[in-house]
Amino acid sequence: KVRVRFAPSPTGALHLGGIRTALYDYLFAKKNGGDFILRIEDTDTARYVEGAEDYIQEALEWCGIIPDESPTHGGNYGPYRQSERRDIYDNYTAEILKTDFAYLAFDTPEELDALRKEYEEKGEVFSYNNKTRNNLKNSIALSAEEIAKLIEEKVPSVVRFKMPFNRDVNLEDIIRGKFSVNTDTLDDKVLVKNDGMPTYHFANVIDDYKMEISHVIRGEEWLPSLALHYLLYEAFGWEKPEFAHLSLILKPEGKGKLSKRDGDQFGFPVFPLEFHDKASDSIYKGYREEGYFPEAFINFLALLGWSPADDVEIISLEDMIAEFDLNKVHKAGARFSKEKAEWFNHQYLQSKSDEELLERLQNKELVQKANLDKKTLQKIISLMKERWSFVKDAVNDNEGGKFFFERPTSYDEKSVKKAWKEDSATILSQFSSLLNDVSEADYSAENIKNKISEFCESNAIGMGKVMMPLRLALVGELKGTDVPDIFEVLGKAESEQRILNAVN
Ligand code: GLU
Repeated sequence: KVRVRFAPSPTGALHLGGIRTALYDYLFAKKNGGDFILRIEDTDTARYVEGAEDYIQEALEWCGIIPDESPTHGGNYGPYRQSERRDIYDNYTAEILKTDFAYLAFDTPEELDALRKEYEEKGEVFSYNNKTRNNLKNSIALSAEEIAKLIEEKVPSVVRFKMPFNRDVNLEDIIRGKFSVNTDTLDDKVLVKNDGMPTYHFANVIDDYKMEISHVIRGEEWLPSLALHYLLYEAFGWEKPEFAHLSLILKPEGKGKLSKRDGDQFGFPVFPLEFHDKASDSIYKGYREEGYFPEAFINFLALLGWSPADDVEIISLEDMIAEFDLNKVHKAGARFSKEKAEWFNHQYLQSKSDEELLERLQNKELVQKANLDKKTLQKIISLMKERWSFVKDAVNDNEGGKFFFERPTSYDEKSVKKAWKEDSATILSQFSSLLNDVSEADYSAENIKNKISEFCESNAIGMGKVMMPLRLALVGELKGTDVPDIFEVLGKAESEQRILNAVN
């Protein structure tokens, strides 16, 4: 059975890359009728961040990527937090120490630092591996009696992996194909720290095995660890899962990894949900809070590094599952684009029901203040939504429709120059008295439009001479939608008041 895990460390908020990994994990699992598992890798207590696990779970939920098994959903392979799996790791620590793949090392941090310096002075690179290990204070260099004595004296030690000498490890990655790594280039990684806590490599491999993970799909930053992981499986005599390493998400200019600081610089979020980083006391924007629809967000994210057939762009989660193929995941990094992200949200917004848009619109402060009835709001939505990428665009500026909710308090200078002529005040006053005859009930765009035409004809003036100053009066600048529609939405009293204000 296909079982895929997403294994974040709760060291901070999940950024775009992390969520994309979770999404691909999920898509691959579901495509193959398998399970998607969330495992929290929290053995590194020094880097643990309060609230990070909740953030991860909330972000996944918002995206609609719901785990089949997780710390909160439970499952038959738990516990799903590594900090609760100590006894499992302890057993395997004892086991691997019996093999020729691990040993105890008693070096103190000071000794290691001194050694590193020594190598530096010789102009050599220090690596704790098969070339150096025999000169160090570890169980390979010590006699059985010496080891027994150190253990009895409770001298702190770590368990290290014993990297084989000069061996080519043949690796395979679903996205990158086959390649090999010589073990002489690798060091003897610590597997268990001196407090008995396993390191990432050790716990990760044990858990993938114990949880019967069939496919490990993760970020490419773990590619350099793959050889070690292969050898750990070999050490235990376990069958390996298959591996796929995903390329980075790149900065908009296409060079370098997208970082959390890029968000500030380029004005877009790199986190799914708003994130308050207590350590630096900064608040990072989130896609949810910026007004993205979760469907648009995951659609956009899925296509950062994968192309469905026929290069379709708008694709539902369901169809993504049906189409997902690791062989079509790009080897090269995917360049982030703010414009593209917004384009996706624009597309999704257009297909949203009016009720959903209404609800979101009603949440905006300015809309609440304007206190318009539902019918009017619905009219505004159908008139304006084509211009919106976010519902908040409705209240951001007049281009999106802000003027519907707020009378102009001043008039845009450029627009005045262009639209307001010597005779404008007179024209508007005359037109306004013509409008007086139109009752509130007849105040429709169509009737207004006819009135404007009539007015122009009987006074033998061009449309622009009326339309432009009217627009200026109603909106405050030369923006917005068709003038007759604006009249209809604003209604008789409000429209007349705005004309009056402009004329005076
Ligand atoms: N805990 C690792 C991380 O946060 C997981 C890497 C993996 O998927 O193996 O990236």
